[in-house]
Amino acid sequence: MSATRAREVAVVGGGLAGLVTALRLAERGVQVAVLEKGAEERYPCNARISGGGFHVCFLHVEQDEAALVAAIQQATCGFAQPELAAVVARDTRTAVRWLKEKGVQFVKGGGDTWRENTLAPALVARPGLQEGRGGDVLIRTLGAALKNAGGALLRGARATRLRMDGPRCVGLEMEREGNTEIVDARAVVLCDGGFQSNGELLREFITAAPERLKQRNAGAGNGDALQMARAVGAQLVGMQTFYGHLLAREAMDDAPLWPYPMVDHVCTAGVVVHSTGRRIADEGLGGVYLVNQLARLADPLSAIAVYDQAIWNGPGRGHIVPANPHLVEGGAKIFRAHDLRSLASEVGLPVATLEATIAEYNAALAAGQGARLAPPRTTSVIKAYPIVEPPFYAFRLCAGITFTMGGIAVDRAGRVLNESNEPIAGLCAAGCCTGGLDGGPQAGYVGGLAKSAAMGLRTADDLAAFLRAGD
Ligand SMILES: Cc1cc2nc3c(=O)[nH]c(=O)nc-3n(C[C@H](O)[C@H](O)[C@H](O)COP(=O)(O)OP(=O)(O)OC[C@H]3O[C@@H](n4cnc5c(N)ncnc54)[C@H](O)[C@@H]3O)c2cc1C
Repeated sequence: MSATRAREVAVVGGGLAGLVTALRLAERGVQVAVLEKGAEERYPCNARISGGGFHVCFLHVEQDEAALVAAIQQATCGFAQPELAAVVARDTRTAVRWLKEKGVQFVKGGGDTWRENTLAPALVARPGLQEGRGGDVLIRTLGAALKNAGGALLRGARATRLRMDGPRCVGLEMEREGNTEIVDARAVVLCDGGFQSNGELLREFITAAPERLKQRNAGAGNGDALQMARAVGAQLVGMQTFYGHLLAREAMDDAPLWPYPMVDHVCTAGVVVHSTGRRIADEGLGGVYLVNQLARLADPLSAIAVYDQAIWNGPGRGHIVPANPHLVEGGAKIFRAHDLRSLASEVGLPVATLEATIAEYNAALAAGQGARLAPPRTTSVIKAYPIVEPPFYAFRLCAGITFTMGGIAVDRAGRVLNESNEPIAGLCAAGCCTGGLDGGPQAGYVGGLAKSAAMGLRTADDLAAFLRAGD
């Protein structure tokens, strides 16, 4: 151990949740330091490379709170903890207004109303990773504001272990420049962004083959917060699901095909089959659901999208960076044939099975009986297209993981809960390292930026009030 520092609060992670929490604490007069493991000025984090759309279940953040809560419960099939749903429904708008006051700029990022609060500058229509857009400006703006407010951002500081005095967290240990340092603190707030980039944890909770998922993220969420919290008795919740998108198979080889174009629109309008030629799951439940189903296959890389000309020219052109034409531009191999038989043999799928799959599928849609298929094809949210208009198309898929939905259990004030649902004194968590909001049987997605900003703000306000009451 080389040095001991003291802060009232130590925040682990300089992404959106960590910087919002720290800045708000600093504004409340709390002496705070953010430990950020990335050493570079533009250290990688998911917030920095995000698409920048603040929404709650793809609804405008200013929508009626009760409507937002209902949307969260519907998307997660009742999985979301009511108190966390309430925080996100109420505090996301507060967070967006507060961010605007801090100088963060928003633009209308597209036609849908939920895109009205998109970080500026918004994404441009081209495949591949887009750096230096709104997420990057957000992180730089918050970092500068934290410094101005008297807070510290220590880059190259990786938190490794929580320090406990009996049942109370009293700080942590961190690695910096090859040394281990102690940080004494009255409270620690964990904001490391999730465990999506930790193969062992992915194998424990999500997939038998983590190396066959595409890391559609900044690579910074290694589950350190989860492991530190688990070591001191924290409860974990909703660990099996993740947020992500379907990508072309070639994205695995780092072709400029991730994080965009995502191919959810094509897959959910058409069908997704595996190497047997049979459908895998209900495409009507959306891309996030499908990507979770792919991850559960013995081989997550065995899935193939099959669709027709009407889909390619319709939903294929959906999204800011649409699959049509950006898949081709980004280097994906697209199979194309004038009949399904030729398509199947080009792709290497069993011809008779693929023909039977598509014939059954088309017949069920024509009869309005998609729900009777195995697996069913629901149409209440996403329109199903019959696959009838030549030419027919196919391409191989991979499952892109953006962030894990499950994580550390917290209450409405961000206090980390133990297995008995009691807060662990001095320990909070916010953002995508927490669980209990997104997830459920259909991997319902609420909104990563909303969750991080709203929970960060709420945690900071309650923690500041608690610390000041104790003075
Ligand atoms: C390509 C892409 C597009 C996205 N688009 C959207 C969108 O349009 N809308 C939306 O709502 N969400 C979107 N998201 C999700 C959103 O970016 C995240 O949900 C959000 O940024 C999570 O914030 P966070 O603070 O929890 O984590 P992060 O922003 O990832 O920050 C975590 C930080 O913790 C640091 N850290 C990790 N371990 C340690 C440690 N041991 N010690 C110190 N520091 C540590 C990391 O280095 C990182 O800087 C997108 C994500 C990606 C990748």
